[in-house]
Amino acid sequence: MKRKSPTEPPADSQKTLESWRLLFESETYKNDLDALPGNGDPVFGFEVEWDDLTKYEQLHVKFSENMTETLQCGNQVLKEQYSNRNMATRPVIRVVNLPDDRAYEMSQLRMRDRTRLLSFDGIVMSTSPIIGWLKLSVHKCNDCDSKWTIKERLARPREKIKFCRTCLDAIISNMESKKPKSYHKDPTDVSMVAEENYYEDVQYLEIISPDMLENGMAENGESFQVVVFDEYVGQFSKGDNLTINAVVAVDPLINRDFIRDTRRMIYLQAHSVEEGFSHHKPIQLDLSKEFSLS
Ligand SMILES: [Zn+2]
Repeated sequence: MKRKSPTEPPADSQKTLESWRLLFESETYKNDLDALPGNGDPVFGFEVEWDDLTKYEQLHVKFSENMTETLQCGNQVLKEQYSNRNMATRPVIRVVNLPDDRAYEMSQLRMRDRTRLLSFDGIVMSTSPIIGWLKLSVHKCNDCDSKWTIKERLARPREKIKFCRTCLDAIISNMESKKPKSYHKDPTDVSMVAEENYYEDVQYLEIISPDMLENGMAENGESFQVVVFDEYVGQFSKGDNLTINAVVAVDPLINRDFIRDTRRMIYLQAHSVEEGFSHHKPIQLDLSKEFSLS
């Protein structure tokens, strides 16, 4: 079976790329970009208003339906914009000010909400140490020197690399030929190129909602884990009032007893974070004492 050439993006992503291009070349965003935001930073979160997505070929619909791919296209276009301005910064699109119908009370989250992009008011109760996520691992074949990249999932086992595709294709086509060889070299002789792996900074925040503070859930020790990436890492501290725009995700329990445990807990994968609540009055935590009423 022939694999598609990865050089030509499909028509659908062409359209998405074009929509992002129109957005970033519009008056407002052109001016924003001309101010060279994040110049000198290794990574910069570039904010895009949700309402502006609606103005360019329904980008908000694409963004809702296929967030990862739509963002990938957008980040590619934004990176071009930065390169055109001679900036080495890696910009990351952060869509902010989600519409009110996306606002959600954290304590109401259920499994059926999985994969939804929602907006939460939350107070930071604690922050984890900063950790690294092996996001892309690079592998090479020790026979033919082919190199390829694997996308790794967060908090999941690293993908198993079983064989070199190039060598395997060669073996298969040889076996289908009229005079197949009697001996084939082992296509599984592959190794990871550790120095070329790509890592991203991540951090977990323990979050409660203002409602959970009032209704006793927080007192009961209940909270949600929010994972933040890149420029948000190391930015937040206990007591911060935030609006967290995040995708609802599920993870295995942390203290599971057996490896194939099917129990799952909900956590939030932050897409963007805004200072202050969007739907509640500010709350001042008493930071002088440990938050515990027991
Ligand atoms: Zn090979």
